[in-house]
Amino acid sequence: MKPSKELDVLFSAEQIAARVKQLGEKIERDYDDKELVLLGVLKGSFLFMSDLSRAIDLPLQVDFIGLSSYGEATESSGVVKITSDLSRPIEHKHVLVVEDIVDTGLTMRYLLDNLATRHPASVKLCTLLNKPSRVRTRIPLDYLGFEIEDRFVVGYGLDAAEKYRNVPFIGTIKRG
Ligand code: 5GP
Repeated sequence: MKPSKELDVLFSAEQIAARVKQLGEKIERDYDDKELVLLGVLKGSFLFMSDLSRAIDLPLQVDFIGLSSYGEATESSGVVKITSDLSRPIEHKHVLVVEDIVDTGLTMRYLLDNLATRHPASVKLCTLLNKPSRVRTRIPLDYLGFEIEDRFVVGYGLDAAEKYRNVPFIGTIKRG
């Protein structure tokens, strides 16, 4: 079966595109005149990052960081490993982290603490999704696409065992 047929739609491609456009406009206004680095968290943010970067008409740089959480596949342990580091220093740069989803917040807590040691001018977070019911450490969500209930979502970059990342909408896996 086609991967998209295995999912119930939560946010359509059109809904995502409209929200990404709004986020891009707000970021563009906020960062006018600043040296901005968009920092995508691999792999889940790859589609969000590519769409969001095209919605921001500023002279920005893009970079990526790979993170993996030790422990259960669908449950964050808070113990995070950098699997692939930034390609350039971020000292004195304004960094906007682009993340797919904040769940417990533990992964972002680790990343934000790590980035702070590199002396950027500022660090903010843009996450496409947030699950407020699951929060274990409060992270400032400077830019947020959508809040969702405690459900496991896939598509638009998000995976289940590496599947569904290329589905153009966000959905949940059908039962049965
Ligand atoms: P946290 O550390 O905030 O608990 O977890 C963040 C990471 O867990 C996300 O970057 C993502 O990789 C994964 N994650 C959390 N919830 C979901 C979900 O509903 N679907 C998918 N595919 N990944 C999730």
